[in-house]
Amino acid sequence: ALVMAWYCSGSTNTELIENLFKSGLIKNKRVKEAMLRVDRAHYAPSRPYSDSPQSIGHKATISAPHMHAQACEYLIDHLQPGSRVLDIGSGSGYLTHVLANLVAGPDAPEQGQVIGIDHISDLIDMSRTNINKSEEGRNLQESGIVKMITADGRLGWKDGAPYDAIHVGAAAESLHPALMEQLRAPGRLFIPIESEEEGTSVVARGGQYIWVIDKKIDGSIHREKVFQVKYVPLTDAPRG
Ligand code: SAH
Repeated sequence: ALVMAWYCSGSTNTELIENLFKSGLIKNKRVKEAMLRVDRAHYAPSRPYSDSPQSIGHKATISAPHMHAQACEYLIDHLQPGSRVLDIGSGSGYLTHVLANLVAGPDAPEQGQVIGIDHISDLIDMSRTNINKSEEGRNLQESGIVKMITADGRLGWKDGAPYDAIHVGAAAESLHPALMEQLRAPGRLFIPIESEEEGTSVVARGGQYIWVIDKKIDGSIHREKVFQVKYVPLTDAPRG
């Protein structure tokens, strides 16, 4: 992981994205294009072009660039102009902006929407400010293509359903049924899930894994456990 971080980091946004592309962490041209158009410096307060997560306060982190890239790569078939997307645990708002670039069509009938949800209202305010730092981001918010909402993401966001793609940016204890209900058929969910302890040995820790869950056109469900990760937990909102 350290070698990858060294290899993929850059001294500019373009260099970072080009390095992710060269290393194969970004494969899709549309993903690359969408990420090139968002300056991470608007979202990460320090070391924005380093391929590592950064603290953004409130016990939240902006995920590492390669994780944002992977999320887009897995969801890309469901991120077409006109698609509807839910980004749960939106934090800095970086990924919400990238996802919006992918679903915003050039013409009105194709306008998609990305709804970003975080349960900390200060972070929602911060993400709105971050997105407004670029003209493109301002337009996305003014046109309603990007909508940021303070809410408990474990319940999804019913008013905007069904979604072509749902991204979860914090580790869930279980697969929340509301998210599956709000997924379109066909649709895809990208979610880190805390796995249960396997066996009885003390060393056999569970860990977190990304699950890619498809709701097929006939409504059937297909799940795949793809790789191990380390996200902050999806929790109850802090009190007071
Ligand atoms: N995708 C974000 C990740 C932020 S870290 C980024 O890269 O910037 C995870 C976020 O999940 C935190 O901002 C945290 O406040 C939020 N979160 C945790 N539990 C939540 C819940 N139940 N509902 C909504 N957001 C939650």
